[in-house]
Amino acid sequence: MNSFQVVAIPTEIAEQVRNTGKSPNYGFPAHREVAAGRAPCRHCLKLIEHGQEELLLFTYDPFRELGEPPLPGPVYIHVKECPRHSGGNAIPEEYQERLLTLEGYGENRAVLKEVRVSDGGEQAAAEQLFREPSIRYVHVRSTEAGCFLFRLERC
Ligand SMILES: [Zn+2]
Repeated sequence: MNSFQVVAIPTEIAEQVRNTGKSPNYGFPAHREVAAGRAPCRHCLKLIEHGQEELLLFTYDPFRELGEPPLPGPVYIHVKECPRHSGGNAIPEEYQERLLTLEGYGENRAVLKEVRVSDGGEQAAAEQLFREPSIRYVHVRSTEAGCFLFRLERC
């Protein structure tokens, strides 16, 4: 069942950070370094290769265009241009069997349900959330770091 699709951050955001070296809407300087640990790129949703590739760390509000209040937090993208994740209805491989928190949001940015997965239950958990008609979209976060990873939208 195609109940949702994966949504990465917009390309215009990634380009803005790469071009200006600043966080969109906040103006804080983006930090550039070689990836030193697990660093998922929020644009292509691939991992930024540890010890090899450079990342940009910046402040991003995942509720941009969705509602208030904002909830700015740190995210990474590749320094080099990368293709935006193409969507699709499966949790990307890089995030499977990880410690993830899935937050289901309804009208007015209200959190209606939160589910934590640790053992590969992420796809089933996401599909389950979208069976609730009042859930409009889902934010997927790292349970350990708390950082926003990507959004799931109802199809
Ligand atoms: Zn990337």
